Amino acid sequence: MLPDRTGHFGPFGGTFVPETVMAALAELEQAYAAARRDAAFRRELGGLLRDYAGRPTPLYHAKRLSRALGRNLRVYLKREDLLHTGAHKINNTLGQGLLAVRMGKRRLIAETGAGQHGVATATVAALFGLACEVFMGEEDMRRQALNVVRMRLLGARVTPVASGTRTLKDACNEAIRNWVTTVRTSHYCIGSVVGPHPYPMLVRDFQSVIGREARRQILAAEGRLPTVLLACVGGGSNAIGLFHPFRDDRRVRFIGVEAGGSSLAPGRHAATLLKGRIGVLHGSRSLLLQDRFGQVLPTASISAGLDYPGVGPEHAYYQLTGRARYAAVSDAQALRGAQRLARTEGILPALEPAHAIAYLKRLAPRLRRGAVVIVGLSGRGDKDVQTLADHLGADGAHPRHV
Ligand SMILES: *Cc1c(COP(=O)(O)O)cnc(C)c1O
Repeated sequence: MLPDRTGHFGPFGGTFVPETVMAALAELEQAYAAARRDAAFRRELGGLLRDYAGRPTPLYHAKRLSRALGRNLRVYLKREDLLHTGAHKINNTLGQGLLAVRMGKRRLIAETGAGQHGVATATVAALFGLACEVFMGEEDMRRQALNVVRMRLLGARVTPVASGTRTLKDACNEAIRNWVTTVRTSHYCIGSVVGPHPYPMLVRDFQSVIGREARRQILAAEGRLPTVLLACVGGGSNAIGLFHPFRDDRRVRFIGVEAGGSSLAPGRHAATLLKGRIGVLHGSRSLLLQDRFGQVLPTASISAGLDYPGVGPEHAYYQLTGRARYAAVSDAQALRGAQRLARTEGILPALEPAHAIAYLKRLAPRLRRGAVVIVGLSGRGDKDVQTLADHLGADGAHPRHV
């Protein structure tokens, strides 16, 4: 069972942090190990996932989308978009929030890019009566002004980060820096399967509720396991959450879809698994978009949630061992994917999972007839309506820049 005791997934993972937070990571690991064994913790988290977040989410058979793809494919959508706060992130923040309370912490710290994880953390802080500070790049605060308002309405302090490119990677650096000085009272709530051990394991476990439900639901609906699991990958938490409970089902194929941006030239995408090289970022070793001097490259994607130069170490390991394959979908294709799902099923997805929807078109001709595909629909599209309008035109029918 991975990771190993030092937090490694093969050559990836580990712990690369300042000495001052080593003790906090050990405390977190112990608290998590104890919580996992504690029936009361599992009951409390399960109750909140059900009554507060809205689990289980449906596994929906998208018949019109399936028909449009041909080959008698049977495409199912795992509807994380229906959760409270609009995406899968709440699965993780509820789990970490409960752990923080168990450890006696009074404050949550988080980094956020698009603001989705910031909103999910601020939500849980309000729910548990904890203070909350969210670090966000100035550039992202400008692009995601609505989520800044949401976090503040929920009682969180949003702290602008002016260093570097003023985006997610800089917000992570600032959150870690702040944590170093506040570890006794604060829990750092990381938003994806990244960062030092035990975070990639912990976040994966909290998100694995997605795949556990999907496995049960597809067996009930089809009487068999799926041919393919498909999900978008930013840091990789919604994808790992879907994949992990199927890890021993060797015939179930895993495909992760990264942000191909405007092209696969350096600085114009966020396809870390496709184009990255091994390196250390934000406390762990994984693949990383970097130039030949080891400088982290800028990234670009139409979907803020995928716009990150690193990726979770477990995905890097899955790619190395061939357990999962990864592909990139461009901005233009993702926009068309969002539109296709809206028109065929009446579901407007977030632009992140729209990458996975778009990839179906490439995948369909390579699957045998009647194959069953589960797509992780990680979030809803409300946050992206303006972006869609800007690129697709007001009636959505005439792509302008795509
Ligand atoms: C944050 C986010 C993602 C990317 O994060 P992962 O950790 O890769 O899942 C994907 N989809 C949505 C809707 C998000 O909010």
